[in-house]
Parts: sequence; structure tokens; C-alpha cells
Amino acid sequence: MDLYEYQARELFKKHAVPVLDGVVVQTPPEAEQAWSTLGTPLQVVKAQVKTGGRGKAGGVKLARSADEAREYAEQILGMDIKGHTVHRVMIAAGADIAQEYYFSILLDRANRRHLAMCSKEGGMDIETLAKERPEALAKVPLDPAVGIDEAKALQIAGEAGFTDEQARELAPVLIKLWEAYAEEDATLVEVNPLVKTEQGEVIALDAKVSLDDNAAFRHPEHSEYKDTSAQDPRELMAKEAGLNYVRLEGEVGIIGNGAGLVMSTLDVVAYAGESFGVRPANFLDIGGGASAEVMAKGLEVILGDEQVKSVLVNVFGGITACDQVANGIVGALDMLGESATKPIVVRLDGNRVEEGRKILQEANHPLVTMIDTMDGAAAKAAELAK
Ligand code: GDP
Ligand code: MN
Repeated sequence: MDLYEYQARELFKKHAVPVLDGVVVQTPPEAEQAWSTLGTPLQVVKAQVKTGGRGKAGGVKLARSADEAREYAEQILGMDIKGHTVHRVMIAAGADIAQEYYFSILLDRANRRHLAMCSKEGGMDIETLAKERPEALAKVPLDPAVGIDEAKALQIAGEAGFTDEQARELAPVLIKLWEAYAEEDATLVEVNPLVKTEQGEVIALDAKVSLDDNAAFRHPEHSEYKDTSAQDPRELMAKEAGLNYVRLEGEVGIIGNGAGLVMSTLDVVAYAGESFGVRPANFLDIGGGASAEVMAKGLEVILGDEQVKSVLVNVFGGITACDQVANGIVGALDMLGESATKPIVVRLDGNRVEEGRKILQEANHPLVTMIDTMDGAAAKAAELAK
């Protein structure tokens, strides 16, 4: 999970990494208010989006009055930065920058190590620096059992070309950044720029953090960082119902039992759809025990998606037999009633297939077409979607 800068700053603060105060707002008047809350003569209005290069895109602006803070918030809110719409800006206390450095720690899977990267030339695009002048970017492997202690911090700064005195100033911040990285189970901590101010302080002026989702169970407090607004509302609804759902771009909604079967259904529909100019609209695996409720929830998620024009239900009866699934479909359509309006192609096979097909035949629902083969069902669903 990637964090917003303001969340990453909070995390830094918790680990005593020096950061400046900030207030997150959603409207220009709130930005003006934030100005007086912070009370510093220089403040920065910063777009909160999960992408880099905000500065270049005009999403970071220095303000010297409450009016400017409001004005810049107005300009930046709603801006599109690399496909990310700005819904919030942070008004942050500004720093008088003397020097801009770069520092990051990341997980280096290939070498089974963590990796620290450091440069005296921060602020700019680090990918460009790494490509054009790789010697200006120090890369120091970290032993996971040790991380960054005093000696390691001095080594990193030394390799980046800092003087001994500068290295001693930087070391405590690098050590704290390691503590944040390790204790929060991050896979990336990046500070660009890490600055030295005119007053001689070392401060993390930007903050980028990715947390390891596999360690989420160790950090219940991280769930507050979850960004439900950026998530597709259908995916959220499916997740809350415990369904395995991924929304795609097409027109044919797909429900199946078992990830493998659903994957191959996507392939078959993509193939059949070529001649009709339609594609699969989603991946949805309802799993083994497809009760009427689960089927209803799955159908509800898919039928409510305005891009969906037809639905293919592809079920291979196993432990959950076809007759149970058929009852599930009939029950689901009953539950959905009038709200179900799109044609549904059902292909059943496997355990108790005859009984299952009989149930659907007898129900004789006007929206349901039964097709016995997977290819045939995919072709029919694609045709109906067109
Ligand atoms: P990014 O472009 O998304 O990486 O956003 P940053 O937070 O790194 O900001 C971009 C640039 O804005 C920095 O490299 C600085 O040059 C400038 N900047 C950001 N905060 C301040 C500040 O407090 N004072 C000054 N003088 N410049 C700042
Ligand atoms: Mn930056």
C-alpha cells in the first residue's frame, strides 16, 4: 500500500524523523485558515496524490500570505497530475532550503537485502540522475539484521560524497528513517528532497512510503491509511461481500466458481468477443460454496455495473453441485427482482448437471439462456452484449 505524503509524514513524525507541520484541506477557504493555524511566514501548498513529479506538474507552490495559500489551493485542487485528480492539498510549513539531498531505503528482493540510496543532489528526478550520472548516487546494501546503525549511516553518507561533518549531521536522520522503515514493515521509504535548511537543520521535506501488505496483520493501525475513495466502488462492494472481484474494461460480465475456471472463461469470452467488438467486463470468482446469497451478491455487483451489457455464468459443479448452483441463480434472480435487467447466459456442467439444468428450465426466467458448452455460452454472451 502506497501512502500519501501527509500520511508518510505522520509516520516519520512517529519515529522522530524531523518533518515540518502540515494541515490537509479540501477547499481554498480551509487553506486560508490553515495558513494562520501554521503561522509561519513561508508555507507550501502541496497536491496530495500518489505520484511523484508534483513540483514539475505545478502541484507544489510556495505561498507567502494567506491569500496566496488560498489562491494556490484553488489552482491545485482538481488538477490532474499524471492521471491522478487532486482532491486534497497539504498546507505545510515551508523551509528555507540551503541544500537538497536524496535518500531512500528499499527492499532489494534479488539480493535478499535492503538497499540504501543516497545522493548530494536531491530534488530532481532520481531516475534521471541514476541514468545520467550513476556515480552521484550511492547504493549501499543493508544487512536486514543490522539495518542502519551509526557506522552504516556514516558509510552511506561517505559513499555519497558528503564530508565527515555533513555525514555526522545526517547520520541520526538516516538511522531514524531506517527505524521507520523496519518497524512499520515498509518496502520503500524515500525522501526527495532531504534538505539542510539555512538554519542548519536536516529535514525530510517530501515523504514517500510503501507499506508491505503482507505485514498488515502486524499493524492494525495501518488500516486507517486505506484509501477507499480511490478504489472502484464495485470492487469495494465485492470485497465487503467477500467476493474475489476485479473490474475490467469490457461489456460481458463474468461469474464462475474457481479462479482457474474464471480465468479461462475470460480468455474464451475475449476470443469470442473479438468478432462482436466486446470484451470481458470483470473477473468474479464466487468460490466453492455458491449459495443463493453469494450468487445474488455476485450478480448484484455485476448487473449494477453500467458498462455490463450481458452476463455469463460459468459453473462447473464439484463439491457444490449444479442443482445447488441453479437454485442459487433462481434465488438470486428472485431476490434481485426488477433490478435484474440484463440477459444472463448460464453454462452448467459437472456434478448433478441434469438436475441443475432442469431447475433452470422449470424456472424459465425470461433473462436466462442456457447453453451447454463453454465456447457456445461465451459466443452467445458476446453476441448479446453487442
Ligand atoms: P515532488 O515534486 O512530487 O517530488 O514534490 P516535493 O515535495 O519534492 O516538492 C518539489 C520541490 O518543491 C522540492 O524539490 C523543492 O525544491 C520545492 N519545495 C518543497 N517544499 C519546499 C519548502 O518548504 N521550501 C522551499 N523553498 N521549497 C520547497
Ligand atoms: Mn519529491
